Amino acid sequence: MYDYHVHTLFSKDSTMKVEEGIRRAVEIGLKEIAFTDHAEINVWRPGDVIVDDLFEIPIYIDKMYQYKEKYKDKINIKLGIEIGLQREEKDRIAQIIDEYPFDFVIGSSHTIEKYDLYFRQLFQEKTKKEAYERYFQEVLKIVQEIESYNVYGHLDLVRRYAYGEYEDISICNIEMEIIEEILKVIIQKGKGIEVNTSGFRYGIDSTNPDIDVLKLYKDLGGEIITVGSDAHKKEDIGYRIGETYDILKDIGYKYITTFERMEPKFIKL
Ligand SMILES: [Zn+2]
Ligand SMILES: [Zn+2]
Repeated sequence: MYDYHVHTLFSKDSTMKVEEGIRRAVEIGLKEIAFTDHAEINVWRPGDVIVDDLFEIPIYIDKMYQYKEKYKDKINIKLGIEIGLQREEKDRIAQIIDEYPFDFVIGSSHTIEKYDLYFRQLFQEKTKKEAYERYFQEVLKIVQEIESYNVYGHLDLVRRYAYGEYEDISICNIEMEIIEEILKVIIQKGKGIEVNTSGFRYGIDSTNPDIDVLKLYKDLGGEIITVGSDAHKKEDIGYRIGETYDILKDIGYKYITTFERMEPKFIKL
């Protein structure tokens, strides 16, 4: 198994030490682990401040290279990052990605109009439908304008935050039409998507994106696809990845994707 989405204490929302994560990955028999700590540029945070939520990348890289060497006989360690994609920050994002020797970049939309979905401003004074449309319309513009990533992270992340008054978190036909446009752009630009298994832990009871989107991506000719647990603690490393490979196989996927220095490699399922 290959876990392509793991956070360590380089991310503000994780306390897992890098080596703790590696040991766990070895213990459960992963062949490869890609660390993908968070980088968000110019985002709103409580206290009404706009900040860079970014770690010391050179220190991170040094550390990863040390562990890569130390554990080379036991597991492949990949140097990744999960970068928040925002159109207004396009140039700085490109600068960061081009400057360092990443193996793998997840581009994610955690933030719409500077607001992290987590704080739920996106939902204020909007119906669920309006909030979803706003989210996916923005993702469409992002994939049209930004190139600095390999796979789009948890494409339907907005579902994770549509709780409470928005009981039904499913996606409707109109949103599927926008998602189809998004996937076409992703494929045409040679990018991919990730299947994120954390939805099973966050009460959505499916992967992100869900099976309908995974089927659509396949039907449209999508081939580049990574699978990741989005673990923020060691117990979640590898979480339901085997089961997700089976879901992909059932849909008709023959390969999953890994990356080395930003180049995709296809692994038979
Ligand atoms: Zn994320
Ligand atoms: Zn993540």
